[in-house]
Parts: sequence; structure tokens; C-alpha cells
Amino acid sequence: MTATLADTIKPIWPAPAHVIAGVSTRSGGCSQAPYQSMNLAQHVGDNADDIAKNRTQLAHAEKTSPQQWQWLEQTHSTTIIEIDEVQNQPLHADAVFTRQQNTVCTVMTADCLPILLCDAQGSRVAAIHAGWRGLANGIVSNSINAFCNQLPAIKSQEIIAWLGPAIGPDHFEVGAEVKEAFVNDSAIGQLNAAAFEAQANNKYKADIYQLATIALNACGVHHIYGGGFCTVCESERFYSYRRKAQTGRMASYIYIDTNQNSAD
Ligand SMILES: [Zn+2]
Repeated sequence: MTATLADTIKPIWPAPAHVIAGVSTRSGGCSQAPYQSMNLAQHVGDNADDIAKNRTQLAHAEKTSPQQWQWLEQTHSTTIIEIDEVQNQPLHADAVFTRQQNTVCTVMTADCLPILLCDAQGSRVAAIHAGWRGLANGIVSNSINAFCNQLPAIKSQEIIAWLGPAIGPDHFEVGAEVKEAFVNDSAIGQLNAAAFEAQANNKYKADIYQLATIALNACGVHHIYGGGFCTVCESERFYSYRRKAQTGRMASYIYIDTNQNSAD
């Protein structure tokens, strides 16, 4: 059997050439229905051997080994962890960053928003899992603070951010409790109101990209790229928990390549 290549999306952003980043799609793996085919998550009921093969294939597609990939056990928390070396077990966190080369920071999603970060020099990189709960509770500000304050500290204005595939505003219908978690009298709380469009029956359509952009802007991050995907609409390309609860997960990943002087 001929191996298929992992079909990944590459950010279009002005990151240094030695910062390697991407998002997997559904294509190119070996998982069977309903996880077909590039599921990377172990907690969704898929076959463990298939997941391991998919992870290996993705790692090789990015010219890395599977041992260089740090996976998380995500809980919609606001916890970010810095890693110097990859742990065998998944870390309990919703964001991870590193200043080490060849250490791949990874988050998994299927509707929630993945956010990738690097600084202008490409000396540190981060991956953030931002669902609505994490966003409302401050995963972005928590992550930016940790990312910037690790000595030698950097300014948040130097950060470049990329927003990966998430549920689009046309499909992200939420109840009033979600709007109430974001909208209040604070400066950010007032800006957040624009991300909610009222529907019938006290429901709202929410724009998770806009909410993340407001949170990033509030931290001083203005170089923001990506967005504009919809995991629900683009069913061939993306897993979506809202479309089908029993499904796989994509991985969004970023690392600092060894060859720091290449290309730029
Ligand atoms: Zn949609």
C-alpha cells in the first residue's frame, strides 16, 4: 500500500523561516469511520494503533520524529506550561510553549480555536487551545503573560499570532449564558458584545475569531493572521464536534527548527 501524505494547512504569516507550523486535516491518515482518516486524539474512542500511525505520519511529514511532539490533555482550563523537553505523558494544560529547538508544541481541536504564537525572532513558540470557556476565563491573557515574561522577557507587540480552523460564526449558535460569560461593563466586556448576533429564542451567533482577536489585542498583540475557516461547513477537511459528537481531532502544531539561519 502506498503511504498517503498528511494533508496539512500551513499558516500564511510573516513568521521567521525557521518557525515551522501547521494544522492537520482529516485527510491522509488510516483511522476508520467515524474517525476517518487523520484522527490524532486518543480520548475519542478510536483505535490506538491507527492513532499512533497517524501521529507518526504527521511527525514525519514535518521532518520530525513522534518523540519530539508534546501532546496535551486539555480541560478548557487557563493553564499554560513551558516545556524544555517532551514528556512521554500528555500534560494537563490547554496551552504549551517552548524556547527549545525541535520541540513541537501541539493542541487538538474539533471546533474550538487553535492559536499559534511566535515572537518576531522566532526564539519562542506556543500553541493554545481556545474554546469559549477558556477564552471567557482568560486563556489568552494567561498565555501571553507567561509567554512574554519568561526571561529574557519580550514585548507582546513582538508577537505574531495565527488563528487556525474553528467553528465559524454562521454555525456557532450559543445560549445567553455564553454571551454573559463575555459581555460585561469592563472595556473588553463591552467590545465582546460585537461578537454576538442575536437570534430568535434568546440564542446568539458567536464569532470565536473576533472574541480571540479582542483578547489578543487587549494583551498588546496586533499582528494576527488566519481565521475565516468553519469546521462545521468544511466537512471534508475538518472534524467538527458540533456536526457529529463522535469524531476525531485535528492537531495544530508549531516548533523551532534547528537550522535557525536558513532562508532568512
Ligand atoms: Zn459554518
